Amino acid sequence: MQLLLDLTRPQLRELVQTWGQPAYRGNQIYEWLHKNLVTDPQQMTNLSKALRTRLAATARLSPLELLRQIDSKDGLTRKALFRLPDGNTIEVVLMLYHHRRTVCISTQVGCGIGCTFCATGQGGLARNLSPGEIIAQVHWFERWLRQEDEDRSLRVQRPSRMTNVVVMGMGEPLANYDALIQALHAIADPDTFALSARNITVSTVGLIPMIDRLRQENIPVRLAVSLHAPNNRLRNQLVPINKRYPIPALLAACHRYQEETGRRITFEYALMAGINDAPQQAEQLADLLADLRSHVNLIPLNPIPNSPYQPTPEVQAQQFQAILEQANITTTMRMRRGVEISAGCGQLRQAAQQPDIAPLIRKS
Ligand code: SAH
Ligand code: SF4
Repeated sequence: MQLLLDLTRPQLRELVQTWGQPAYRGNQIYEWLHKNLVTDPQQMTNLSKALRTRLAATARLSPLELLRQIDSKDGLTRKALFRLPDGNTIEVVLMLYHHRRTVCISTQVGCGIGCTFCATGQGGLARNLSPGEIIAQVHWFERWLRQEDEDRSLRVQRPSRMTNVVVMGMGEPLANYDALIQALHAIADPDTFALSARNITVSTVGLIPMIDRLRQENIPVRLAVSLHAPNNRLRNQLVPINKRYPIPALLAACHRYQEETGRRITFEYALMAGINDAPQQAEQLADLLADLRSHVNLIPLNPIPNSPYQPTPEVQAQQFQAILEQANITTTMRMRRGVEISAGCGQLRQAAQQPDIAPLIRKS
């Protein structure tokens, strides 16, 4: 079955024309999908009954089936595990920070990059997600936010709108480049979903040629780079693809991105006890970033099974942060948020694959 969200507006116009319909019907369907977020052709009330029936018989409107959903105790984070039509599963997380409603989306089933501390990386890559499978994740939570129902389990005032999208779920977004770009254009389209590109962040392990391509797209998203180490020797161990795209070349690509887009670059740094959290390493990191407008996101590691890495204790994490701040580098520290719901990259999916873990739930 054809997933309609995989089609761009021109492709949808072409499709309906092959069915003997005028092209503007394609525009109407596009708006039902991307603006009204409908998942049932019968809701497309300005289409003929025959066309609705044809859509229902030949096309899929949503590829996501909710398998599990869990909320953090503080009511600020909700994590959902979805099944795709081919049986693969992906994770999506909604986070509430102050007035922001941020959805964290996946771009691949698994990941082929193999960072040594990452749950997603451990399982390898199953496949890329299609553009529509990426878009549907944003739509799913947006639909939920818009609904006025009695579900008060998360601390969100509804109806409300999504304010931010971060591409930091499962997978390496820049390794699924074309699907990612199509999806980002769809959610940033001012005529439909209309989320500002400024409120979209793409997190990458640092695929330099793709960062250079992204810089030239007409979609000025914020770039986050998963650094995790202040020198090549250590980064080669934690993020093996560093051997191909080492730190100096990666930072040069970040400079180019910043010059083109004018945007501050975020660096992600997962603090691991005794590995990358010494004061000298904080100084080395500050030196590396000295001539870039940057922001460092310090994340205490979410430990994963069968891994030697453990999170840095809070006091040391704060010392590390203070050294960066003294060097005039702005930082945030996401203290263990969502840890109890396995909100680390790929962790819910991994847990779900273990039969001894009881189904986690709320209502679906
Ligand atoms: N592949 C992309 C985006 C997905 S991972 C990337 O690597 O940037 C999102 C972020 O979670 C990355 O910064 C990643 O390094 C980090 N991450 C992965 N496993 C983690 C863990 N166990 N604890 C803390 N952060 C982790
Ligand atoms: Fe892939 Fe990112 Fe995990 Fe590395 S950290 S294995 S790039 S998802």
